[in-house]
Amino acid sequence: MIPVIDGHNDTLLLHLEQPDRDFFSRQESGHVDLERAREGGLAGAFFAVFPPARTVPGAPATFTRRDGTTARPVPPVVERAEAVDATNAMVSQLLRWDADPERRVRLVRSVADIEAAMADGALAAILHFEGAEAIDLDLAALDVYHAAGLRSLGIVWSRANAFGYGVPFAFPSSPDVAPGLTAHGVRLVKRCNELRIMLDLSHISERGFWDVADLSEAPLVATHSNAHAVCPSPRNLTDAQLAAIAGTQGLVGLNFNTGFLAPDGSSDPELPLEVMVRHVDHLVDKLGIDGVALGSDLDGATMPAAIGDVAGMQRLLVALQDAGYDQDSLEKIAYRNWLRVLRLTWGE
Ligand code: ZN
Repeated sequence: MIPVIDGHNDTLLLHLEQPDRDFFSRQESGHVDLERAREGGLAGAFFAVFPPARTVPGAPATFTRRDGTTARPVPPVVERAEAVDATNAMVSQLLRWDADPERRVRLVRSVADIEAAMADGALAAILHFEGAEAIDLDLAALDVYHAAGLRSLGIVWSRANAFGYGVPFAFPSSPDVAPGLTAHGVRLVKRCNELRIMLDLSHISERGFWDVADLSEAPLVATHSNAHAVCPSPRNLTDAQLAAIAGTQGLVGLNFNTGFLAPDGSSDPELPLEVMVRHVDHLVDKLGIDGVALGSDLDGATMPAAIGDVAGMQRLLVALQDAGYDQDSLEKIAYRNWLRVLRLTWGE
C-alpha cells in the first residue's frame, strides 16, 4: 500500500457539528476516522479549520442566471468574533487528539515531524485554515495560531473577507469573477511568507490568485482544485494558472468532489474513476509529474462512490496504475510531492 498525504479534509468541521463523534473508533457516517484512515493508507492530511457558512433565511439555495446556467448565491460574510469561536473550537479539537497518550494522531509542524509520524505509523495532521476570517487586521492572531501549529492558510473560502474574495459556486464559470487581494490581504501574504506558512490558492478569485503569484516568494499551491479545461467550475484552475504554478515548482491537489470533476458539473456519485484520471493526466501535462498531488475534500464534499470514504483512497492509485502511471509517479502523487513542496515552503 502506498502511503497517502491528503491536501484537504473537513473532518474538524464535522466534529464541531457532531460533538459525540469519536475520531479514534470506526464511525458509520462521514468519510474520515482513524480506523478507516489506516485502511486507506492515509499517512498525513491537511485538517481544515473552516468557520461555518451562514445562510440567509428564506434565500434560495440555487438560482438560474440569465444565460440559463445555475449558480448559488455568494455566502454571506462571517463576522470575526463568530469565526474566532469556531476556529478555536476546531484547533482545540486537534490539540486534544494530539494529546492522546498513544500519539496516534500528531499535530505536525515540520517535514521532520511528518516523516517521524509516518515512521511510527501515526497520522500526521497539518493544521490548515480555510479562510482567514479569524485573523485580525494587525495579524496578531496569525502569530498566535502559528505558535499553536498553523502551517497552511487559504486566504478565502467561497466568500469575501477583509483580505480577499473567493469564487462563488457556479457552473460553468470563469474564476475571474471578483476583485483581487485587499491591502490587508497584501500584508497577510507577506507575513505568511515571513512565518513560512503555506498559502493555499483553492477558492480564491482569479485576480487574487495573480496578486499572490506576484507577491509570494513561496511555491504556488492549490490544495484541493482540479483542471478547468476538463470541468469548467470556477473552483478549478485555468491552464494559465497551472502554468504559473508550474513556474514556481508548486503543486495542485486533486479534489475528489464530483461536482468539480464531472465535465458537466453534475454532482453524481456514480462518476467513473476514469474522469479523475483525466484530470490527473491534464494536471500532469501542465505541471509535470512533480506538481500533482491529492486534496480529497473528504467530509466536505460528494465523493465518487468508487472511492466512498478515506478507506477507498488506494482505488484511485490503482486506477492511475491501470492508466499507465509507474510506481515512482504514483508515490510522487500520493505523498512525495507534498513532502517536496512543504520542505520548500516551511524549510527543513
Ligand atoms: Zn474547500
